[in-house]
Amino acid sequence: MQFNSKQRTQAVKTLKETVFDVVIIGGGITGAGIALQAAASGLKTALIDMQDFSEGTSSRSTKLVHGGIRYLKTFDVDVVADTVGERARVQKIAPHIPRPSHMMMPLYDEPEATFTPMSAEIAMEIYDKLAAVSKDSPYVHKLLSAEEANDYLPMLDQTGLVGLAIYLDFQNNDARLTIENIKQAVTDGAVVASHIKATKIVDAGAFKQVQVNDVFRDETFDLTGKLVINAAGPWHDRVTEIADEQTTDAMRPTKGVHLVVKKDRLPVPNTLYFDSGFHDGRMLFVIPRADKTYFGTTDTDYTGDYAHPKVEQPDVDYLLTAINRRFPKAKITLEDVQASWAGIRPLIGNGDYNGNTTKKDVSDDTLHALDTTINQYFDHEVDRKKVNQALQDLSGGAKSASSVSRGYKIEVENGIINVSGGKLTDYRLMASDTMKFVAKALSDEFSQAVTLIDSTNYPVSGGHFNPNQVDAEINRYAEQLESLGILESEALELANLYGSNTPELAKYIATGVSAPHLSITETSTLHYAIEHEFVLRPIDFFLRRTNYLLFKSEDLQRLEEPVIEEMAKCLTWSAETKAIMREEYVRLRDETQLKTLKEEAGR
Ligand code: FAD
Repeated sequence: MQFNSKQRTQAVKTLKETVFDVVIIGGGITGAGIALQAAASGLKTALIDMQDFSEGTSSRSTKLVHGGIRYLKTFDVDVVADTVGERARVQKIAPHIPRPSHMMMPLYDEPEATFTPMSAEIAMEIYDKLAAVSKDSPYVHKLLSAEEANDYLPMLDQTGLVGLAIYLDFQNNDARLTIENIKQAVTDGAVVASHIKATKIVDAGAFKQVQVNDVFRDETFDLTGKLVINAAGPWHDRVTEIADEQTTDAMRPTKGVHLVVKKDRLPVPNTLYFDSGFHDGRMLFVIPRADKTYFGTTDTDYTGDYAHPKVEQPDVDYLLTAINRRFPKAKITLEDVQASWAGIRPLIGNGDYNGNTTKKDVSDDTLHALDTTINQYFDHEVDRKKVNQALQDLSGGAKSASSVSRGYKIEVENGIINVSGGKLTDYRLMASDTMKFVAKALSDEFSQAVTLIDSTNYPVSGGHFNPNQVDAEINRYAEQLESLGILESEALELANLYGSNTPELAKYIATGVSAPHLSITETSTLHYAIEHEFVLRPIDFFLRRTNYLLFKSEDLQRLEEPVIEEMAKCLTWSAETKAIMREEYVRLRDETQLKTLKEEAGR
């Protein structure tokens, strides 16, 4: 599979000439997942995005595929069971991306604490069972005392600390997961193009016509499809409006902000998850990645520009106050922030990611009763049925998994399938549910039989290796790079990034020539990104295909100009285009690094 600006020209031509089975609007994780399944099922598939792929919310998440242990506070067992099940499926189809890690949850004796040590222990026992974590797994949960917690986290505030819960969770790379789905869709025949904006959807006989604008060339043309899928995330209502010209207000988007500091400013051995300390029902994450630590997130209602949500002073104040309260010795300031991002959650109505709109608290007596039943189970005094019954009693009766809202909605209206809400962790399931609507609509309206793939067994690009042997397989790919003279640490990093596509990268390394001021791996990574990963602008490369801007900012000064020069050469930019690209990159880099806020604070 190849994609570069020449292929984009060809893709645009094909978009104009083909009658597609499905035209998908939105190349975030939702649209990407649907495109993969549609193309793999043999459908003529078009995918467009008005920005770069994953430039919306799907590069701006907390970057976790998390099981949602918080829901076990209120014994929403079905939600957690579904989520950890789905997490395992995503790990299987994209084994190079989500990675298991220890999640640490400091427990404080304070009003409205999410968990006490006892409720955390019970929640983790249930959680391990739901996630099939066996007793001999390195990820089996543990509950440490406050003193033991101090050994792990010496900078953590000890006042009121009553324990540290440790359990399994998964780290993720949201933008890479999205692009790997899109690459696989293209390999399977999908026609995709970024920077193509849908502006109107009209009927054209039995088909739908999507009027689009090629943002790069300012050219307008039509796409024709039997079905249109609205996978526009936070823009869902806007896309609904271009179809029926009526104002829709189904979404209640909220903004979430993350800040990145150097690891030595906030050293944590693993992901941390704790109550914000503001008694606002919010929990925050602190996550180590590369040589950095990032933390977030805020959660505030949002009505501004969805394409450019900004980190504002109140966001920084909230996060720094919360972090410095939990890590009083750290004294993190705005000056410490090396990078940041703000994302818009595509929430429906008043729900959260999982569709929950109500909170139910459980009394201590009820918890004791459950604890007794669970202990009896481990002592072989009661069977599993009894535990299940106890859990169901707590969760307010037996809700079947299908009747639990997962926080996403799929609605069909006049040939348009509107997909809204959800979370990254559930993307495969959302896509698979959407495909059932697609198959039915194509059958009912076009007498077209569709055999859907088993998406639980269909890897994304880069994920074509044994998911039960991730470390061994990644090491094998890394060794291929090492045999080309690449240092072990760099080889491992690249193998982790590209998975089963590493041999393709190795070809570039073996046959390529270093661009001026770039190493052979940097040159090859850039060429691979241009040729295979739809990179059209410097910001696509530095922010989403690689995470230089977020987690390797020390390298930027050295890399920026050589990368822009090499892109200009590969993509045959005029001097004017190069200047525009550079200006855009610098503006977005400065925004990411909070330059304006820092300048204002310095005045
Ligand atoms: P998007 O990624 O926003 O994609 C929609 C796309 O549609 C955009 O790229 C946009 O450009 C395009 N588009 C819109 N209108 C048009 C048009 N007219 N024409 C063409 N294209 C158009 N989930 C998790 O599972 N784990 C997490 O850790 C997690 N953390 C999160 C933290 C934050 C702060 C936020 C905001 C979200 C988090 N989520 C998390 C949720 C998850 O990120 C989102 O649910 C998911 O990324 C939404 O993907 P999407 O494809 O629906 O939307």
